[in-house]
Amino acid sequence: MYRSDSGELATARAELVRYGDRLLADGLSVGSAGNLSVRVGDAVAITPSGVPYPDMTAAAICLVALDGRRLDADGGDGGQPETPSSETPMHLAIYAATGAAAVVHTHSPEVVALSASRRELPAIHYAVTELGGPLLVAPYQRFGSDQLAAAAVTALNGRRAVILRNHGAVVYGADLAQAYHRAVLLEWLARAYRLALAYGEPVVLSEAQLEEVAAESRRRRYGSGRPPRS
Ligand code: 13P
Ligand code: ZN
Repeated sequence: MYRSDSGELATARAELVRYGDRLLADGLSVGSAGNLSVRVGDAVAITPSGVPYPDMTAAAICLVALDGRRLDADGGDGGQPETPSSETPMHLAIYAATGAAAVVHTHSPEVVALSASRRELPAIHYAVTELGGPLLVAPYQRFGSDQLAAAAVTALNGRRAVILRNHGAVVYGADLAQAYHRAVLLEWLARAYRLALAYGEPVVLSEAQLEEVAAESRRRRYGSGRPPRS
């Protein structure tokens, strides 16, 4: 932990390390691929670039301002800081465009396969409403580029997740637990879609059916962290 850490920031660092380990254990990325961030006030705590998750410590988590300025250039505790994730521009663009409090980027295999083969993830299951509806695949841009950040935000199109052509997924949430859960859900949906395609072109839910699901989910307060009352 850095000497200047607030309690909230210390929690964010610990959570980022913990969810990085989960990313690997759950097969959503391999090696040091993918990245995670949490917004803490006007700052963003983000995983370092190229550090394998098993080697990642709380002190290795980087801190940037919403405009991309380094906030821990001296390493915070006087040590040499790590380099923030190459996808920092994409994380910051998502914070700027949405109410996100956490962003998760994965190279999860079902999503990668879909990203190389399809233009969208259609509504083959009602759970897609948790991601805001069917998802678009953003056009290919080089990892870490400002062009990828812009393409991701454009293809987000009001959803809580976007698929990156020949690359992976980006998902956001009101906290890291929610963003991570959505990354797992997206991988599950991509797999279910691939299985459905084995039968031929699947039937998809209509906008009206999705809206009905969203309304019932709101009534039951799904996703709010509170148990349904009925
Ligand atoms: P970083 O290690 O720089 O975060 O990059 C991983 C990645 O997924 C690039 O898209
Ligand atoms: Zn990536």
